[in-house]
Amino acid sequence: MDAPAAPTTTALRYRVGGMDCPSCANTIETALRRLGGTDGVRLDFQSQTLALRLDEDATPRATIEARIRSLGFAIRPVAPMRVVGASDTADSVAVDAEPTWWTTGKARLLLALGTLMLGGLVVASAEPAVARWAELPAALLGLGFFGAKAIRLAGAGTPFSIEMLMSVATLGAVLIGAPTEAAVVVLLFTAGELLEGLAAGRARAGIRALSALNPRTALLVEDGAAHAVPASTLQVGQVVLVRPGDRVPTDGTVLEGRTEADESPVTGESIPVSKAEGDALVAGSINGSGAVQIGVTRTVADNTVSRMLHLVEEAQASRAPTARFIERFSAIYTPAVVVVAALTMLLPPLLVGAAWETWIYRGLALLLIGCPCALVLSTPAAIASGIAAGARRGLLIKGGAALETIGRIRIVAFDKTGTLTRGEPHVTDVIACSGTERSVLGLAASVEKGSSHPIGRAILARAGVDGIPLRPVAAARAIPGQAVAGTIAGQTVLVGSPGHLAPAGELSGDTRARIVALEEAGKTVVLVMAGADVAGVIAMQDAPRADAASGVEALRALGILPVMLTGDTRRSAASMARALGIELQSELLPADKLRAIAALQRHGPVAMVGDGINDAPALAAASVGIAMGSGTDVALETADAALLGNKVGGVASLVRLSRATMANIWQNVVIALGLKAVFLVTTLGGLTGLWPAILADTGATVLVTLNALRLLRHRGA
Ligand code: ADP
Ligand code: MG
Repeated sequence: MDAPAAPTTTALRYRVGGMDCPSCANTIETALRRLGGTDGVRLDFQSQTLALRLDEDATPRATIEARIRSLGFAIRPVAPMRVVGASDTADSVAVDAEPTWWTTGKARLLLALGTLMLGGLVVASAEPAVARWAELPAALLGLGFFGAKAIRLAGAGTPFSIEMLMSVATLGAVLIGAPTEAAVVVLLFTAGELLEGLAAGRARAGIRALSALNPRTALLVEDGAAHAVPASTLQVGQVVLVRPGDRVPTDGTVLEGRTEADESPVTGESIPVSKAEGDALVAGSINGSGAVQIGVTRTVADNTVSRMLHLVEEAQASRAPTARFIERFSAIYTPAVVVVAALTMLLPPLLVGAAWETWIYRGLALLLIGCPCALVLSTPAAIASGIAAGARRGLLIKGGAALETIGRIRIVAFDKTGTLTRGEPHVTDVIACSGTERSVLGLAASVEKGSSHPIGRAILARAGVDGIPLRPVAAARAIPGQAVAGTIAGQTVLVGSPGHLAPAGELSGDTRARIVALEEAGKTVVLVMAGADVAGVIAMQDAPRADAASGVEALRALGILPVMLTGDTRRSAASMARALGIELQSELLPADKLRAIAALQRHGPVAMVGDGINDAPALAAASVGIAMGSGTDVALETADAALLGNKVGGVASLVRLSRATMANIWQNVVIALGLKAVFLVTTLGGLTGLWPAILADTGATVLVTLNALRLLRHRGA
């Protein structure tokens, strides 16, 4: 329940170190939720990021930090939006660096345990009388360390922690006179935790490789000379020199020089893109053979790479439906195993008079099987790797839920203009019904002046090339999916689709025939109306994207039905649809596109692919919205995924990545549960004892982490 008058809360972000397993994250979340004044507590194991809102009157920040430290974890505040690579200060480096493993407390514990146990071996061989108890000191040391932590965790609201299970099993083993086994268990457990930490660190490093894309320094051009400055200090409007082979420090526009840029680190597109004056360069791309000066358009904190990283982190932290299901499952799994362990200790001796010692021992071993660590890790580890693998190839996925859904897609609906086509149409024909071609273009360009639609941009570009002056326009407005309108010298001028503007009867037979011919050639035709009269006709052509045909074919090969949804006329779109081998639904208004998506969804989950500018509603309505576009704000905000490389084939890559991720998740679940099941049986049967059980647990966790890491190398084959 929300408090009636919300107290002022502060949004806090921390980086938490020392977690070996996602259940640590849950433990910390639980502990923080129990403190007053906290809200929206979210701790992501993969990125080690803790986010929460805090009412500092109820609980000061220091209490939060102290509580986390008391549970044995490291904590550091971070800025609300992390700017990776933007700061050279020692602090930000320290926050991001994993501590080297041998400096951790666990490593020292392992060393101490090892030494004690070796000493124990020596004592045992020298003095057979005390051999049985020679490893007791090691067992007690481990018990002290993990027992204390278990008690702290229980106090913070997590009674069934792995530390608790471990401590009970170790204590039990000591009590039934098996201190050597107890010592081996704490030794293996400590080694396992270290290994898990190492594997998790590897996973994080793989993901953080993205952050290396933002270079730390830039060459600022001032008074004709270039000097190195920290990239984080760049301001919008400053001029930066990018030498051949340099990494572009932040988003900018070429002011001087020409070159080609390798944008593959950001978009996955490996063919260098040629860049001349006026072209945009994205941060993180690698400059080719020419030196260029660029005008900074976005600061480092705000550039494409930083926003991508931010999205990827958020995405990894968002819990996928499968992860939530498994978390719920593991919440009952651990207590259930504890119950089974208790019954194992009690029932056989009580019911059939079996030996207490045997069955207590077996019950203790079962306790060790009760740790759900590998299981809880199965989904988030795979999702985080999948999202990172996508980001490396310009496939930006905004969350685990989206990544899960994409693989189940049955139908992909494509917008035509800007998605299957390049969205850069050029004017091919101008027909004047009254006046001249120039006057028709002049009227059209004037009302399109503010338009961001590809059609408007094409008309404006042509008018610019022909040197046609624009006229003042009043009351300009766009009618999405149909036309633009404005008033010029008291007369309403409309530019838009023939179907919506003119009842066919009002066109002369000759004009109608020419429109039909242009449309059959695959061109998009707009009418220019002055008042009630048709002033002229403008036709333009837009080339399909280079990989449109192969990208559509790749979807078919995956058993997915591709459909084209367009506001253009059937005649204009038909030839392209035929060439691509895609179903066609034409002459759709934006609202019709929504209805079309809803109708398609009756056959299964539908992905909508659009250019993110005028397709936002359809993107939102589909099961998954995929935006084409290199980091345009709208694309990133409304869609669930974005194809930074502007490749149609990216949709099929997303599907394959999603399917690979889901397969990886199930492999992980099988590894985690399979190993537990095997050891459940062998323990009950008395074939295996305490230490194989703990080995199975940490082994499963390490295997799951390594298996998930394989996804980072997913090439989309
Ligand atoms: P698509 O589905 O191909 O992306 P839209 O839904 O954006 O197309 O537009 C559908 C039709 O509406 C266009 O083919 C064109 O006839 C007309 N139209 C939309 N915007 C404009 C504009 N700015 N100027 C002229 N015509 C437009
Ligand atoms: Mg469009």
